[in-house]
Amino acid sequence: MTQPLQQAIAEVQLRIGNACARSGRDRNDVNVIAVTKYVSLERTREALQSGLTHVGENRWQDAKDKWEHIGAYGHGTWHFIGHLQTNKVKDVIGKFHYVHSLDRLSLAEEIQKKAAKLGLVIPCFVQLNVSGEDTKFGLPPRELFVFLKQIAEFPNIEAVGLMTMAPHEENAELTRPVFRELRRLRDEANERMAYGKPLTHLSMGMSNDFEIAIEEGATWIRLGSVLVGKDG
Ligand SMILES: *Cc1c(COP(=O)(O)O)cnc(C)c1O
Repeated sequence: MTQPLQQAIAEVQLRIGNACARSGRDRNDVNVIAVTKYVSLERTREALQSGLTHVGENRWQDAKDKWEHIGAYGHGTWHFIGHLQTNKVKDVIGKFHYVHSLDRLSLAEEIQKKAAKLGLVIPCFVQLNVSGEDTKFGLPPRELFVFLKQIAEFPNIEAVGLMTMAPHEENAELTRPVFRELRRLRDEANERMAYGKPLTHLSMGMSNDFEIAIEEGATWIRLGSVLVGKDG
């Protein structure tokens, strides 16, 4: 059963506040994306009306209907969080405001082309496969610094930070090393000035592990089931 949205929001807010307090973080530095990929158009509308302004979807085919009924009217800030096929770039760029899954040069080239045509600069997160699972998308961390240098040449892409997905763990504490490593990689990229300007953001933490991600420095958490539900 999907619980009433207001109640889920209040519970999540409390848990975010507690994780910030435990780790000495400023609550305002943690942004929430409501991941609506499991839920209906109606539930997505309700989420926006309840004050959740950031919407996340991971497949254009599934997001299309929602975007056309909501995003096309200027409502919400849209985050593309899933694997982005090169041939879907033309659908996504110009509609979604952020891309969290920039993980290869061929994708950067497509985004650059489409964004330039539209006169947009697209804020992107570089997705890294920190855990090294072969089922996960993402650039291998050892390629990060070279990749950042390459995309620094693309005027219509602005790298704003790094993104990763931790393996699903029953015990969320086990995800901590993955989040800690993403943060370390961001800090090292900044020390080396790999991108030319500082990367500030870390997109990490989902329903199962967001409190650990906040303790390790997440600035964007992506919440589906715990926030908007799975079947609404
Ligand atoms: C589905 C998804 C989420 C949210 O998943 P929950 O576990 O339901 O919070 C977050 N990030 C990405 C990339 C996803 O695909």
